[in-house]
Amino acid sequence: MNPFSYTRATDPQQATQATATNASAKFLAGGTNLIDLMKMGVERPTQLVDVNRLSLAQIEELPNGCGVRIGALARNSDVAQHPLIVQRYPVLSQALLAGASPQLRNLATTGGNLLQRTRCYYFYDPAFPQCNKRNPGSGCGALNGFNRIHAILGQSEQCIATNPSDMNVALAALDAVVQVQSAKGTRSIPIADFHRLPGDTPNVDTNLQADELITAVDLPAIPFATRSHYLKVRDRASYAFALVSVAVALDVQNGRINAARVALGGVAHKAWRAQKAEAALVGKTAGEKAFRAAAETELAAAKGYKHNSFKIELAKRAMVRALSTVAQMT
Ligand SMILES: Cc1cc2nc3c(=O)[nH]c(=O)nc-3n(C[C@H](O)[C@H](O)[C@H](O)COP(=O)(O)OP(=O)(O)OC[C@H]3O[C@@H](n4cnc5c(N)ncnc54)[C@H](O)[C@@H]3O)c2cc1C
Repeated sequence: MNPFSYTRATDPQQATQATATNASAKFLAGGTNLIDLMKMGVERPTQLVDVNRLSLAQIEELPNGCGVRIGALARNSDVAQHPLIVQRYPVLSQALLAGASPQLRNLATTGGNLLQRTRCYYFYDPAFPQCNKRNPGSGCGALNGFNRIHAILGQSEQCIATNPSDMNVALAALDAVVQVQSAKGTRSIPIADFHRLPGDTPNVDTNLQADELITAVDLPAIPFATRSHYLKVRDRASYAFALVSVAVALDVQNGRINAARVALGGVAHKAWRAQKAEAALVGKTAGEKAFRAAAETELAAAKGYKHNSFKIELAKRAMVRALSTVAQMT
């Protein structure tokens, strides 16, 4: 392991001052991803800024019925079990509970989950020489390698890695907004603009700057999000990352779809907001015919590789099943 210094921040200003003055400093939250990557030699920060003592763990209503704010240090277990989340945004609670294990969820934070890195084998293991994400310009080992867990939408010739987070899929469907702070001030980043597609710079996962601290995630008020669901399809029933997942919320009146939110996980470099499917669903009678047509529309541009082409049909079927589950809710 590389040598690094350790600082424990007591307030956000102190934390962001450290990252403003050291470009290779990293915030440490639950440590469940960062420490693993440091042990593997994938991440090599020269300074860890421990943010666990910051008071950013609250989960509370925003004023004037504008939604709910989740502090960046709220643990995945606490978010999943919080009554505001369980009652108003069940899709988020279910997504969090589908991730990792109880022990990991007790440590993992909202900010850290947003920034967890891909589980692409070629990225995670420096013994593989080719990875444009870890070592820009070295190539993509997955393109012609073992690519069972890789992307089918939005990928590039430079990178076919996927974002592994379950939480991010629910946040994409809910149009969450990420609140961040740095020594220069604060800003809000809509979740759609937070993570990036790989393009020619797959080494850059997000539009967050290295010195910026995530302070909270805001969920807008979406009354029909009470009718929402997260479906995760994986190789094992528990403790496995998604092959494909779907977050769905539906507003159905008298059998007709007024509004739809659909996002896919396990298929792209970021949680994939299925806007074509959403547009295809609005105004239709809720039912398998409309759901399958919407899934076909969304996946029309999908491209598979040697080991993951099965994901295209899997994603369509998962969409139909998740939409059917929500349509049947009273
Ligand atoms: C065995 C195992 C199985 C798993 N299974 C799943 C799964 O099925 N589904 C799933 O979604 N996840 C899964 N995970 C991943 C887990 O959810 C993440 O490791 C966790 O959410 C990361 O949160 P953390 O607080 O531990 O982040 P850390 O490891 O502390 O940090 C991760 C990154 O976020 C940065 N960071 C942390 N907080 C902030 C902040 N406030 N502002 C700016 N940057 C910040 C850190 O600098 C680091 O770069 C699994 C992990 C393991 C080890």
